[in-house]
Amino acid sequence: MNTQEYIALEEKYGAHNYHPLDVVVTKAEGVWVWDAEGNKYLDCLSAYSALNQGHVHPRIVDALIEQAKKVTLTSRAFRNDQLPLFYKELSEMTGYDMSLPMNSGAEAVETALKLARKWAYRVKGVPRQEAEIIVCAGNFHGRTISIITFSTEPLYRDDFGPFTPGFKVVAYGDAKAIEDAITPNTAAVMVEPIQGEGGVIVPSAGYLKAVRELCTKHNVLFMADEIQTGLGRTGRMFAMEHEGVRADVVIIGKALAGGFYPVSAVLADKPILGLFQPGEHGSTFGGNPLGAAVARAALAVIRDENLVQRSAELGEYFMEQLAEIPSPHVKEVRGKGLLIGVELKPEAGGARRFCEAMKIKGILCKETHDNVIRFAPPLVIDKETIDWALPSIRDVLNMA
Ligand SMILES: *Cc1c(COP(=O)(O)O)cnc(C)c1O
Repeated sequence: MNTQEYIALEEKYGAHNYHPLDVVVTKAEGVWVWDAEGNKYLDCLSAYSALNQGHVHPRIVDALIEQAKKVTLTSRAFRNDQLPLFYKELSEMTGYDMSLPMNSGAEAVETALKLARKWAYRVKGVPRQEAEIIVCAGNFHGRTISIITFSTEPLYRDDFGPFTPGFKVVAYGDAKAIEDAITPNTAAVMVEPIQGEGGVIVPSAGYLKAVRELCTKHNVLFMADEIQTGLGRTGRMFAMEHEGVRADVVIIGKALAGGFYPVSAVLADKPILGLFQPGEHGSTFGGNPLGAAVARAALAVIRDENLVQRSAELGEYFMEQLAEIPSPHVKEVRGKGLLIGVELKPEAGGARRFCEAMKIKGILCKETHDNVIRFAPPLVIDKETIDWALPSIRDVLNMA
């Protein structure tokens, strides 16, 4: 079958809840993907940072196959021999005492919200049903009904009410707005250290540190959604480390299993995550041995291939080079590590047409929020590949 035939089937039989570029990927390796006609492209999206380790990483493939032949699912009704090692290795890599594994990012966010409420009632002494959680405008934390309750994107929320009570939305990047919103019933503040889906919005220096201090001062949990920014993407293990900040609760997902399998987790120390009692939360697939084995290999790749350092160095180079491209359309180039946003001027006619043009030149990017092109290749990219891409990016950023 060719590209047009695949697309026709997809349009006919699938719900239209996405607007993908018309490239049908049939194979991938490292930073490269191939379409149904055999054309080769550089992946500059990495499945929204779920592929930090690159496509089809051989070491993760081996872990997947080996584990798939042994045991894939026990449910948490029984124990398995991969989960304990995953817990231990995740704790050693992140510095948090404990974790709670889920599958999708949204599930891990929901888990963190439940944890914050439980902590508020059991530790802080907030009256039952009264806990409040503060989040930021422009956020993206997932697609469940509770999470879209506090989305500020009309498309994500308008047709899906009624919503979940207990959330307050304040401006992003404004610590004073958070302090003004804190009450004795505030359980937590949940922020993305950089808003990825919001358009690669980097808050001004000192913001996360100020939020951390406010949370400590008012006895409120600081929860960092590092699903997109974590695991090396921004040139640190976690993006909050750029400000020397340690959140009380960290939410990870996406690259946690290297793009092979949905694995997410909530990280915290024992006084917080130890609050969950048997039966209070769970997931049939969360913590399954296949996911745990794959995630262990994915974490090992991040460590053994120095992907955090690589992201810092190559990200700096890529961003510098992008910023030097003269273009009538570009308003700003910003980001950290290999999470880079190129914001176009309002009169540029939207980022989509630039992504379409980039595709023709063999580079896959996706627009975010109309005016921003995100460049977030797998962290295994090298300088030669960036240098290969730059002239094409330059051409596209100078098209009429
Ligand atoms: C992708 C993302 C999520 C949701 O993850 P899913 O696996 O799609 O549910 C949540 N928060 C952030 C910051 C994300 O980038």
